[in-house]
Amino acid sequence: MNELKSLSLAELSELLAARKLSSVELTSYYLERSRKYQKDINGYITITEDLALATARRADELRTREELPLLAGIPVAVKDNIVARGAPTTCASRVLENYVSPFDAAVVEKLSLNPLLGKVNLDEFAMGADNKTSAFGPVRNPWDLQRVPGGSSGGSAAVVAAGCAPFSLGSDTGGSIRQPAAFCGVTGFKPTYGRVSRRGLVAFASSLDQIGPLARSIADCALVLQAICGHDPADATSARQEVPDFRACLQADVRGLRLGLPRENFACCDEEVAGAVEEAARQLELAGATVHWVSMPYRDEVVTAYLLIATAEAASNLARFDGVKYGYRGQGQTLDELYTSSRIFGATVRRRLMLGTFALSGEDCPACYEQGLRLGRAIARHLDSLFRQCDVLLLPTAPTVAFTLDGEQDPLASYYNDILTIPANLAGLPAVSVPCGLSSGLPVGMQLMAPRFREDLLLRVGHTWQCLTDWHQRWPREVN
Ligand code: GLN
Repeated sequence: MNELKSLSLAELSELLAARKLSSVELTSYYLERSRKYQKDINGYITITEDLALATARRADELRTREELPLLAGIPVAVKDNIVARGAPTTCASRVLENYVSPFDAAVVEKLSLNPLLGKVNLDEFAMGADNKTSAFGPVRNPWDLQRVPGGSSGGSAAVVAAGCAPFSLGSDTGGSIRQPAAFCGVTGFKPTYGRVSRRGLVAFASSLDQIGPLARSIADCALVLQAICGHDPADATSARQEVPDFRACLQADVRGLRLGLPRENFACCDEEVAGAVEEAARQLELAGATVHWVSMPYRDEVVTAYLLIATAEAASNLARFDGVKYGYRGQGQTLDELYTSSRIFGATVRRRLMLGTFALSGEDCPACYEQGLRLGRAIARHLDSLFRQCDVLLLPTAPTVAFTLDGEQDPLASYYNDILTIPANLAGLPAVSVPCGLSSGLPVGMQLMAPRFREDLLLRVGHTWQCLTDWHQRWPREVN
């Protein structure tokens, strides 16, 4: 049954509906692959076999009596900062090592007939871009086990790339769905801020965080989006916006669409990466789109706005991990000692919490955070003006391909590596990364960005691209 891993979600759905395949069979197949590659890839923090099989049996049983939703019975892997009842949610941190959630996140509720294969690895509290900050060890890239899978949703990307899960959920605050998707050669979709409920996502930076799917194609992502988008009264930032028929959006091609290529965002990339993405734009031009260069002349501003907003919000959000209400409890005679001994975060999280606490304290407070927000809004306004010149922005997802696991990266250099993905978060825009080539045998990602709530445009361009090419159907050599 090795070929199962190459089937699309629509094909799996048909097999299940026709009862040619049971959810228990499909789930067992993916559980077996997940266990097989766990030692090499370390994609999971917890494999939830019993939960998965119980849901699979329930889906199979229900199907004998009624018609089920399209994705019912297809297993999913969920990033370990999204809670699922009865499973641990660690956020890849020692602080939450033994935390078991008493409730389901909104997205997990919506996928209640999707067997949960497990909770996948990430950078601690989703802070990072290489998955090396996980307290449960780094994830390895299935394309080259000596390289990082990207982050913070490194596990979500790696398990899909290795055929250990047909799709997964990740979260994206500054690029954490798109950059690992690019590094692992899969499709990663960050919806518009507010499209998907954040209830049950452990907050990192609440004004930027967004949940989205990682899968093997745009068409697969469209089906997952259909299942997880929609207004949630329990999330105050959830959008009251009608959810379109995302599958129908795949039908239109790119004829007449204007693609804008931000010059500066190509100039800062490795030559082969920039070259592969430019070549993709040329092919989309042949398919009927118009292509022209635009300018996104900000760089320091992007990093500054992101650092001020993300660290300030993180400092506030992570204040709840104090050893009293949740997670690890240290020891101490006084409250201060208890707090200090309980907050056993890793170095990256500590550094960010210190920065954020600084941005929120002192005489200039709240001026620092306010300035970050103001900068972010200025960037958003500039992006709005670009969308009067073009329909979709097309650019690389990351400046390089996946880098090697060894060696320390300077934190500032790492923030600068995120400049291609952060603008979509600052402006709340939908953005997707799709595979568009290989450089030295490693996947290159092309990023598409659209105005708020115009996921339809991304699906249109992305799907046209994937109908023309087969980059998204390649498998890493390490996997079979
Ligand atoms: N790499 C970015 C960071 O380190 C993005 C993280 C994210 O999107 N969760 O903050």
